[in-house]
Amino acid sequence: MELTEKKHRKRRASSTAVDSSATSSEHHNSEAEDRKQSTLAAVRKRKYRHQTAKRNLEAGLIDISVAESTDTIVSIHDCGTMRVECQHCRAKFFASERLSHSSMRNPKFGLCCGDGKIKLWTVPEPPEPLATLLTDTSQRCRLFRRNIRRYNCALCMASMQANEVTFSQGPSAFKVHGEIYRFIGPMHHSEGQQPKCLQTFFVDATMQASVGVERFGEIDTDLMTDLREMLQLNNSYVRSFVSIDEQLQSGLLPQSGTAGGPSSE
Ligand SMILES: [Zn+2]
Repeated sequence: MELTEKKHRKRRASSTAVDSSATSSEHHNSEAEDRKQSTLAAVRKRKYRHQTAKRNLEAGLIDISVAESTDTIVSIHDCGTMRVECQHCRAKFFASERLSHSSMRNPKFGLCCGDGKIKLWTVPEPPEPLATLLTDTSQRCRLFRRNIRRYNCALCMASMQANEVTFSQGPSAFKVHGEIYRFIGPMHHSEGQQPKCLQTFFVDATMQASVGVERFGEIDTDLMTDLREMLQLNNSYVRSFVSIDEQLQSGLLPQSGTAGGPSSE
């Protein structure tokens, strides 16, 4: 009985040893297979990179994977300074923008005036005090230039009208659909209403300046008065409107509503 039990134990032990040996062998086979696959993958990867680098080299491209930094990826292209002038209209260009048949010594350009084929009007010098305000380095002039848009808005005579299209999603955008037109409205503002645009030229200068401050922010009221006087002297539109108003006030022109209507006489 004891002998039989020993045999059984020995057989079980032997069986366990065989199982353990088989498991260990499978494990080793699996590891070897993994290593083999890994090696093959590395070879394929090297081969692919080599072929890609070769293709890029042939195409004149730089292999990003071997480039040390973006400095080596993007080569610097220096086209000089934009200070070569068109001899006709004095527009400034880079030297490389010249017409292909012209030389560096005598460059010619086609993007501006078509090498002198189109005669451009010279921009007239602005009247005073605008000329000084645009060029002087005083504190007053520098402040004017910093807020020039406010003065421009405060002295505008018309507002732009368009059918605005807004979108519920995406970045803010202003899309005009249809025709753009300028709206000037009546020359005089209604009682109890704030004058706007052209109407501000038919109230006194102080009120025009205060309307500008209220609508567009802090502006120099003395400067506004100077600019208003400049426009009244030099701007043909302001002069025309003032002239029409004077004629209306003096009775030389018929008031609105009577023009072209049937005569009462
Ligand atoms: Zn030109």
